[in-house]
Amino acid sequence: VFITFEGIDGSGKSTQARRLHDSLTSQGRDAILTREPGGSPGAERIRRLLVEGAAEDWSPISELLLFNAARRDHLERLIRPSLSRGAVVVSDRFADSTRVYQGAARADLRALADRLHADVIGLEPDLTFIIDADPGTALSRGLARNNAEDRFEGLGLAFQERLREGFLELAAGAPERCMVVDGNRPEDEIAADIAAHVARHLG
Ligand code: C5P
Repeated sequence: VFITFEGIDGSGKSTQARRLHDSLTSQGRDAILTREPGGSPGAERIRRLLVEGAAEDWSPISELLLFNAARRDHLERLIRPSLSRGAVVVSDRFADSTRVYQGAARADLRALADRLHADVIGLEPDLTFIIDADPGTALSRGLARNNAEDRFEGLGLAFQERLREGFLELAAGAPERCMVVDGNRPEDEIAADIAAHVARHLG
């Protein structure tokens, strides 16, 4: 079973992905926690190329290709093998982030993003939690983390709002897979909702 967490920067999705993974392993399930961009040694190297440079290092299409190269490596080296042995794979971001960031928010490349996804990735999660947080709160959380080498952070409130719209639209188009979770609530409450939903899904 493949479960992904998506949302804007500072939405709390990484915390919730970790909490779900903790809860699954404490129930004795074989589960792995991974992330994108990254998740395999090769993809983590590509992540450094993407996040440590300057914003103008890559054109929008080059950036889209790098995200897909990283995802393909992550898929081959970690996601597919883990799913094959029957593990639950929990990923902090996956293809929905590319659809929204590279496909819509940063450039208008959604059609190319979809073609690449179909041809080189070809896998959709079984469940996707979209952590929907207030863009202002999320932005200040992201800035408080002060991830100075991360060129993607701190692009401003208007950008955060565009991303949020993108994720909500995507969720509306795939309601059987995506669950929008109100992220403006206490962490424990969000984690409990997610754990209950996953328990129902796993049966
Ligand atoms: O989620 P995480 O903070 O690890 O992501 C690293 C950075 O990469 C973030 O600032 C995020 O905005 C950016 N990103 C992106 N496009 C993606 C995935 C992440 O621009 N498809």
